[in-house]
Amino acid sequence: MATKLLVLFAICRLIIIVGLTLNPNNLFSVEINGHLTVDPDAIKSVSTDFGKMTHSEPTAVLRPTSVSDISNIIKYSYESSHGFAVSARGHGHSINGQSQTANGVIIEMMGVNKFPPQVNEDMMYVDVWGGELWIDVLESTLKRELAPKSWTDYLYLTVGGTLSNAGISGQAFHHGPQISNVHEMDVVTGKGDIVTCSIDKKPELFHAVLGGLGQFGIITRARIALEPSPQRVRWIRVLYSNFSAFTHDQEYLISLHDQPQSQKFDYVEGFVIVDKGLINNWRSSFFSPKNPVKISSLKAGGNVLYCLEITKNYYDWSNPDSIDQEVEALLKKLNYVPASEFTTNLPYVDFLDRVHKAELKLRSKGLWDVPHPWLNLFVPKSRIDDFDKGVFKGILGNKTSGPILIYPMNKNMWDDRSSVVIPDEDVFYLVALLRSALDNGEETLTLKHLSDENRKILKFCKESQIKVKQYLPHYRTQEDWMEHYGDKWPQIYRRKMEFDPRRILATGQKIFEPSF
Ligand code: FAD
Repeated sequence: MATKLLVLFAICRLIIIVGLTLNPNNLFSVEINGHLTVDPDAIKSVSTDFGKMTHSEPTAVLRPTSVSDISNIIKYSYESSHGFAVSARGHGHSINGQSQTANGVIIEMMGVNKFPPQVNEDMMYVDVWGGELWIDVLESTLKRELAPKSWTDYLYLTVGGTLSNAGISGQAFHHGPQISNVHEMDVVTGKGDIVTCSIDKKPELFHAVLGGLGQFGIITRARIALEPSPQRVRWIRVLYSNFSAFTHDQEYLISLHDQPQSQKFDYVEGFVIVDKGLINNWRSSFFSPKNPVKISSLKAGGNVLYCLEITKNYYDWSNPDSIDQEVEALLKKLNYVPASEFTTNLPYVDFLDRVHKAELKLRSKGLWDVPHPWLNLFVPKSRIDDFDKGVFKGILGNKTSGPILIYPMNKNMWDDRSSVVIPDEDVFYLVALLRSALDNGEETLTLKHLSDENRKILKFCKESQIKVKQYLPHYRTQEDWMEHYGDKWPQIYRRKMEFDPRRILATGQKIFEPSF
């Protein structure tokens, strides 16, 4: 009897799976000018991501040559009785399969530029294709001596990919995240509608899409705010052994956000050094081995050091003496370890593109294409000391496997109407544990160890009631997503029902169950 039931159950499952499986032949009836392919190599190339921890094969890959291609494929899914998932893929630099989908269509946004970036010098903006890489946006605006205001640390990410999250770096304290620097977008919704939206025009869609994790529409064009581009950068790092002194200074520097440019730094970040990793760390090539301070000789409380990283931009017309004076005046107010100051000058582009240099080095050593169990958290300012004690000086236990970034941001530079969630405090920190898992025999570097450690950190925050929010969030159940969104959940749900009622888009985020 039990065997018969099991067989019946297996047959039912098979019928359901076959019923749900997308028949690629149906897709070829959709009017597409670009390239729709089921070629195994194309499928393989979009089945994994930077995180290298998940694998999901779509049925087909679309390389669009027009916005209508995107609209037609979504419309087909939306209107057909056998809908299927559709996910935009930027550069696939997600960690946990956010731009993947099983049994659906991946739209490759990158490398299919519909139009080159169009700069409007008078209005100081650039119109860009959603799959444009930020490095290419920069290159095109620099030709007019202009540049976007707000960045990510790494520029080989697409505009649509970072705007779906927030897009943050050391400029966010005064310009806000990248999503605070967008004037207008063209979006294809989950119904296949092509809509132009801004703060004044279709504002609900505009705010929904920004920080919307790809849930409400595919960004095909974004209008990004520009400023005159600096030519060079003074890049400074100073060290702290005392966490309170470090955060006090970081918070002081970001409190200057509305001061004139001469009286503040242009970029404020920082990182934590929990072990000898300082020299090996891919974000710290900057430290010269000939540096005047022997790092190991610093008396660090609990052996943890903190590095404040700041920059001052300058222009061709800037007077070098006055830059020196401005920097000196600001540094005088800080309480870092005396003589732990490292300074370099470099072209603005080289500063913005700094992580790419590290990437090339890691690639040459075979250390780039490895699993990346990253954990990015927004930590409220009121609990950052507890986080330091419990995580940097506790759970990490003098071991890490990649840079740990930490920097504060001002909440008032974030638009609460967007879909992103941040802690409910005026100042909150990004803590980014950017780890690489290695299979070199060292137990503390394995994927399992690092993933367990991430879980421990999240558990510690929960038990200590540190109300962190994940950045680049990753959850597997809707309950967890509801907890993540908190008071924002009803709005997110309403937006989804309005703009993507069949839950077709970006299913790799695992927020909503598709309705087919
Ligand atoms: P993908 O991974 O391809 O997509 C991410 C999500 O966005 C998916 O859900 C996808 O469906 C959706 N999506 C993609 N394109 C579109 C579109 N056109 N319209 C709507 N939805 C879309 N982030 C920061 O904020 N600051 C940093 O400094 C930073 N540094 C990073 C450095 C590295 C080395 C890496 C790997 C990541 C970094 N990130 C940083 C994270 C990064 O911003 C996100 O992972 C981002 O989503 C990656 O962009 P992508 O183009 O690869 O997007």
